[in-house]
Amino acid sequence: MAWNKPLPQPTLISAPFWDGLKAHTVRLQQCEHGHWLFFPRTHCPTCGTRQLAWHTVSGEGTLYSFTVARVPTLPEFSDEMPQLLAVVELDQGVHLNTTLVGAKPEDLRVGQRLRPVFDERPGSTTLLRYTPIESAQASVITAEQSAAPEPAPAAMAEVPKRQISCKDIDAMRSLVSEEFSGWSNQIEVTQALINQFAELSGDDYWIHTDPARARAESPFGTTIAHGALVQVLVSKLKLPMDFEITDFRNIVNYGSDRLRFATPVPAGCRIHARYRIKAVEPVKSGVQVTMEINVHGVGQDRPSVINDLVMLYM
Ligand SMILES: [Zn+2]
Repeated sequence: MAWNKPLPQPTLISAPFWDGLKAHTVRLQQCEHGHWLFFPRTHCPTCGTRQLAWHTVSGEGTLYSFTVARVPTLPEFSDEMPQLLAVVELDQGVHLNTTLVGAKPEDLRVGQRLRPVFDERPGSTTLLRYTPIESAQASVITAEQSAAPEPAPAAMAEVPKRQISCKDIDAMRSLVSEEFSGWSNQIEVTQALINQFAELSGDDYWIHTDPARARAESPFGTTIAHGALVQVLVSKLKLPMDFEITDFRNIVNYGSDRLRFATPVPAGCRIHARYRIKAVEPVKSGVQVTMEINVHGVGQDRPSVINDLVMLYM
């Protein structure tokens, strides 16, 4: 989950705030005349002085305003709906935008006391979120808890499968659909996996294998997986099939009618896939089935790989 949600990029000015969160403390700037300020700045917006110092504060405050977002603010947040977007007034008087955790929308009220929750994202950033002071929410969410839980494969395996004879052309044609299936399990496309594929394929171009250079020079700000790697990783994704084709002697894999690498998959991104049966055609030696498989980064609307697989059931 390192990549799937946008994360803040600390600057020289804001770094002490983010470093404070990593140490599970809230740090604010105060000017020489006693004015508190947030967000981090080079000067005091009240009096203009540049004589500022960082102080560790309790981080507690009150709920100044909130909204319950029932449409994701970005597709990446579709797994944490509804989003409880809040403005917190810290006890020092500054306002801070955040999201609330460990709270039900109906229990929120403006003016209630809140305490900080340090949300460690896998990788390097810790986010500052808030929870009602009386909430049972732990004050630290560890990186492992931050990673989105995978759908249980057991639950998908339990779906009863319709048996469809490949000789029953009407039944086979009934599989054709404009609608995609549900999602497969998720896997993470790690840099280690990308490196292995670079070695295997001989494609060790720096956009795949050199994170430092990619950070500096790539438009994506990070290394990306080879399209071909993402394509073959479909073998590790269990597509939720609710049918089983029977009565064939052999399946011939004809390859692909269409293969597109539509959007890149950055290193550290989790992917999953879904499919639809695009076409069923009787041919001389059997029946030809075209299955469109789309691989997406988790939370991404646009697919990363589109593959129209053609199989002949004989
Ligand atoms: Zn001031």
